[in-house]
Amino acid sequence: MEDCLFCKIIAGEIPSQHVYEDNWVYAFRDINPQAPTHILVVPKEHISSLAELTPANSVHAVKCLEAVPIIAENEGLSNGYRVISNVGEDGGQTVKHLHFHILGGRKLTEEMA
Ligand code: AMP
Ligand code: ZN
Repeated sequence: MEDCLFCKIIAGEIPSQHVYEDNWVYAFRDINPQAPTHILVVPKEHISSLAELTPANSVHAVKCLEAVPIIAENEGLSNGYRVISNVGEDGGQTVKHLHFHILGGRKLTEEMA
C-alpha cells in the first residue's frame, strides 16, 4: 500500500525498533510511548482498521492477537497489560493500517475512554 506509514515500516523503508516478527505479523515500539512498554502489533497485509475485517481477511488479525502473549512474555509483562485497537475518527485512529497497541509495565489507569 503506497503512502502507508506502517507498510513502509514493515518493508524496512522507515526504521523501527523491532520487537517481534513472523510470517504474518510485525511488532515494534511506539515512537511516542504512553506506558513503560508500548508496542504496536501490525499485520504484514494492509488492512485499514478493524472496520475492514471480514471472514476473508480476519486471519491477519488473529495472527496479531496470537503474537500478543508471546510478545508480552518476552517483555516480562507477567502482571498484565492492555491491548487496544483504535478505529476511525472517533476512535482516535491516526495510522490507517490495522494495529494493536500493547501497553504495560505499570498499573494502567481504569479509564477506558
Ligand atoms: P493510533 O493513534 O491508534 O492510530 O496509533 C498510531 C500510533 O503510531 C501512535 O501511538 C504513534 O505514536 C505511533 N507512531 C507513529 N509513527 C510511528 C513510527 N514512525 N514508529 C513507531 N510508532 C509510530
Ligand atoms: Zn499499510
